[in-house]
Amino acid sequence: MTSSSFADRDGTIWMNGEYKDWKACDVHVLTHAMHYGSSVFEGQRAYNGKIFKLEEHTERLFASADTLDMTVPFSQQEINDACNELLEKNNLVDAYCRPVIWRGSEMMGVSAQHNRINAAIAVWEWPSYFSPEARLKGLRLNISDWRRPAPDTAPVHAKAAGLYMICTLSKHAAEAKGYDDSLMFDYRGQVAEATGANIFFVKDGEIHTPTPDCFLDGITRRTVMDLAKRRGIKVTERAIMPEEMEGFEQAFLTGTAAEVSPLAEIGQHNFEVGEITKQLMFDYDALVRGEL
Ligand code: PMP
Repeated sequence: MTSSSFADRDGTIWMNGEYKDWKACDVHVLTHAMHYGSSVFEGQRAYNGKIFKLEEHTERLFASADTLDMTVPFSQQEINDACNELLEKNNLVDAYCRPVIWRGSEMMGVSAQHNRINAAIAVWEWPSYFSPEARLKGLRLNISDWRRPAPDTAPVHAKAAGLYMICTLSKHAAEAKGYDDSLMFDYRGQVAEATGANIFFVKDGEIHTPTPDCFLDGITRRTVMDLAKRRGIKVTERAIMPEEMEGFEQAFLTGTAAEVSPLAEIGQHNFEVGEITKQLMFDYDALVRGEL
């Protein structure tokens, strides 16, 4: 099933209630979503054939759609069932699952009251990003020139396609300089998150993470906070200023795709891949596989 294009693969995609051949799932060039960013999506991972926290992801998908004034023409149960059935139909066990909701091509302009709301789900094989050994070396981040917008500037809590414009630009700038990813500050200059993952820091045996008041409160983020508490590690959510990074000993990212990924560098700041980070990385791996 390897191919250079995601459009040209073998498999089945669920689209607007039907299971369709992968290559037949086109949309028209005058799709509202493509011109005006009216699209929301999810990123989910299946481990050993089970999608981790599927119901929470679907709840967030519907909340994101609602924020963008889109009513999903399916129930959450129908979307959950379709995700599970699709895994089976594509014979996948360890996979990535991508539901997407978008406005169609019925109206062309900023107004979109009569555009059809479409839904699709695709799944594909996606083993862990990095082996535990590779992850234990730590990722290198630069600092983006782009800032996460204020809650009255963009729908910051929705997983909306349009918000990823500055993430792609940040990630391109980072990769052009040989970094793995980019740390973004927010509109106030506080530490916010990476381009597709949340950030945590460790100091004196305690964890600190930015309050998610202008970016996604990740499902992995909340899971890892619970895992830390189970280990008796104190977690503080608060505003974190860039100057504080010099004093932090460890740092890591969390996300459905990134899982728990230790950091070695952010700009001129260096971090060790320490015990707390490693513990949470192994705990998370065990939890998602149903071994914790
Ligand atoms: N922030 C951004 C911008 C993301 O794209 C993601 C990935 N969905 C996250 C944070 C982490 O969210 P989650 O843990 O729910 O995958």
